[in-house]
Amino acid sequence: MTASKPVVILGVFVADTAYRADRQPRMGETILGNSFKLGPGGKGSNQAVAAGKLGADITFLTRLGVDAFADMAKHTWSDAGVKSAVIDTPDSYTGAAYIFVEEGTGNNAIIVSPGAAMLISPADIEAHAALIESAGVFVTQLEQPIDSALRALEIARGAGVTTILNPAPAASLPDRIYTLCDYVTPNETEAEGLTGIKVSSVDDARRAADALLAKGVGAIIVTLGEKGALLHTKDRSEHVGAVSAGPVVETTGAGDAFNGGLAAALAKGVEPLEAVRFACAVAGISVTRPGTAPSMPTLQEVEALLA
Ligand code: ADP
Repeated sequence: MTASKPVVILGVFVADTAYRADRQPRMGETILGNSFKLGPGGKGSNQAVAAGKLGADITFLTRLGVDAFADMAKHTWSDAGVKSAVIDTPDSYTGAAYIFVEEGTGNNAIIVSPGAAMLISPADIEAHAALIESAGVFVTQLEQPIDSALRALEIARGAGVTTILNPAPAASLPDRIYTLCDYVTPNETEAEGLTGIKVSSVDDARRAADALLAKGVGAIIVTLGEKGALLHTKDRSEHVGAVSAGPVVETTGAGDAFNGGLAAALAKGVEPLEAVRFACAVAGISVTRPGTAPSMPTLQEVEALLA
């Protein structure tokens, strides 16, 4: 791969606080848990960490509170080589997720409070237009307000920056947003949410991708879990198998690893099909490790797997 252009990712950081207990407490009740774990989360932040560990020149744009979780976010990024453009928001708080995991079944129940990141506004995006315009690749998701994602995609598109929308979590989108995207990267559930077409096979993914192409997207990449990913444009439709790097330990964050890997590869000028293979390898390694951000591989690890 050749010299990398800058990557800019707009998105959300949340501190994941995971509690394991035998059962959920009833209203008004307090119970003792079995364990607790604190870790960095948020789709955009995870994607930035993935790209940073792969050696990309990456800047993450977000809002944080002024608190201990904001310090955690900044340490997470600096450890992964991620630069940040943070709008400090002292009148709110850094996002946090309460994750209850039921011991025995592994089922979970989650409350996400995005805090400061919900205040990311189109005006914030305009204040960072020069940063977005300086990118080779711009990525966003749908955890912050859609109006802000839309404004950022408009600015990126206006400057000829390659744009990637990871439409997660599933949400209904204004038609205009599709016309601003070079790549849209839904997983199976999100592809179904966007098109109404149930996606459980590669052929289903092709039908859903066709529906999204008709809305004006350049290329659709449907991620298909252990079945890999589909790259679909008006000229080609290629299924790339998942890359196995060992026994699967935790698939949370696989999509984030994929999107971070895709952005890093495209920023180096790698052609799209090769970039999808690279992204599958990045995600394939991440699922063999626990955690989300901590599971992201280095460039050396990905290159060794693909060699
Ligand atoms: P999300 O995490 O958004 O639900 P997916 O489940 O589609 O996304 O996974 C994203 C990518 O991660 C897939 O395209 C694939 O490359 C990789 N992946 C997911 N699950 C596995 C698995 N069990 N083995 C190998 N790779 C996987």
